[in-house]
This record gives sequence, C-alpha cells and structure tokens, in this order.
Amino acid sequence: MIIAANWKMNPPLADAGALAAAYAAESFDGVTRILFPPAPYLVQMGVRLDGADMQVGGQDCHHNASGAHTGDIAAGMLAECGASTVLLGHSERRTDHGEDDALVAAKAVAALTTGLDVMICVGETLDQREAGAAEAVVTAQLDGSVPAGIEASRLMLAYEPVWAIGTGKVASVEDIAAMHAAIQQWLAGRDLASVPILYGGSVKPANADTIFGVPDVGGALVGGASLKAEDFSGICSAGARTAAARS
Ligand code: PEP
Repeated sequence: MIIAANWKMNPPLADAGALAAAYAAESFDGVTRILFPPAPYLVQMGVRLDGADMQVGGQDCHHNASGAHTGDIAAGMLAECGASTVLLGHSERRTDHGEDDALVAAKAVAALTTGLDVMICVGETLDQREAGAAEAVVTAQLDGSVPAGIEASRLMLAYEPVWAIGTGKVASVEDIAAMHAAIQQWLAGRDLASVPILYGGSVKPANADTIFGVPDVGGALVGGASLKAEDFSGICSAGARTAAARS
C-alpha cells in the first residue's frame, strides 16, 4: 500500500514542521508513505523525516532540465533536495495551469531522466461522468500522460475523480472498482501490471477501510486529511490492515 500526503499550498511552515515530526514518529507495516510538501519546504521536511519511514517528493516539475523558466522547478532540483518522486498531472495543475496530457508526459520523461519516480494523476469531471464518458476520459489521459516504455517500478498512478477532490464526496465502491479494473486492464496491456493504482478524493479515516477493500486499490493520495496528523495516521493504519489482510 502506498499512502501519499499532498499538502498542496498548505500549511504555514511552523505547522509543517510539527506535522512532519508527527509523521516521523510513526511507521506502518506494509505501507510506503510519501510526503509531497510545497517545494520551498522540501529540504526542511526531508530533514524532519530523515531516518523515518517516509519519503519526500515534489508536487510538480518543469519538462526542461534547466533554463529561463521563472518560477519553475526542474526535476533534477527536486532530486537534489531529497525527493524520490514527483506528482504529475494533478487535476489542480491541469485546471489552474492548463496542463494537458502531452505536457504531463514530457514532465514525466524529464523526471525519469533525473532518477525520480513519477506518480501520474488521472480522473474525470462530474460532467464527464454524468455523460457516461468517465472510462474513456481516463483511458485517454493514460494514453497521453504515461510515457511509452516507462518501467513499471518507476510509475505510480492515482485515480482521482475531480468532483471528489476536496469536496467530501467519495466515489462509490462500485465506481472505484470499475475504474481501477479498467486502469489495471490498461496497464496489463502494456506490461505494467505491477504498477500501483492509488485512489484519491476525500479519503478520510472513516472511509479508508472501505476504499482499501476494493481489490485493485493500491493506496491513497490524500489531500485535506493529510494536514491533520491524526487523520493521516488513521488512513495509514487502514492501509496497514489492508496490507496484512492481502498478504
Ligand atoms: C488530492 O489533493 O489529491 C486530494 C485527493 O485531496 P482531498 O483528499 O482533499 O480530496
């Protein structure tokens, strides 16, 4: 089980240190934890988590290795600051910054070249789901965002229905199962069957066991609940229970 904390543009630095220290005090059998802090905090959070059972990663990177790109961050810089992974194609990047699948794929190539692993996000909007296009949308995102020839061991996917992110709404178990099965089938067709598929969208301690009970769910990408140490811990405990039940 992989459980990732996406802090987005939160919290203030003073709170971040305490939160990372709380994360560092715990570990969960069968659970790999990854923290995606805001980029300016990466080194400090890496220091807080040094020796702890949790990796750090970047929330985004540029598709070029260096150059005149004010405000952007190269994948190699993330790696130098201690990142093991970069999150790419989050719906907030796709919406706020107009990132399309081709750009996500280019960023993934840049990240892989520097030695970072990639976690690529996909997911449909509510309109797309209501139009019956959810699977077609996600499959097209996979086709466009996942670089050809990527090694399975370097890739994680996060299925995040856009309408479930930060809204308190969670996809039904049936819808999660159907989408994860469709993604699994897509992966199997490309020799990537071992790639973990995380679910994201309002995961909380109260619903984590149910979500992790879906067979193809390999973990969670957690936004809001990762800002409360107790809630993130509760989700990781559910992940450990699932890992034990599956082994
Ligand atoms: C996310 O940031 O990817 C996310 C799923 O957020 P939340 O858990 O708040 O819905």
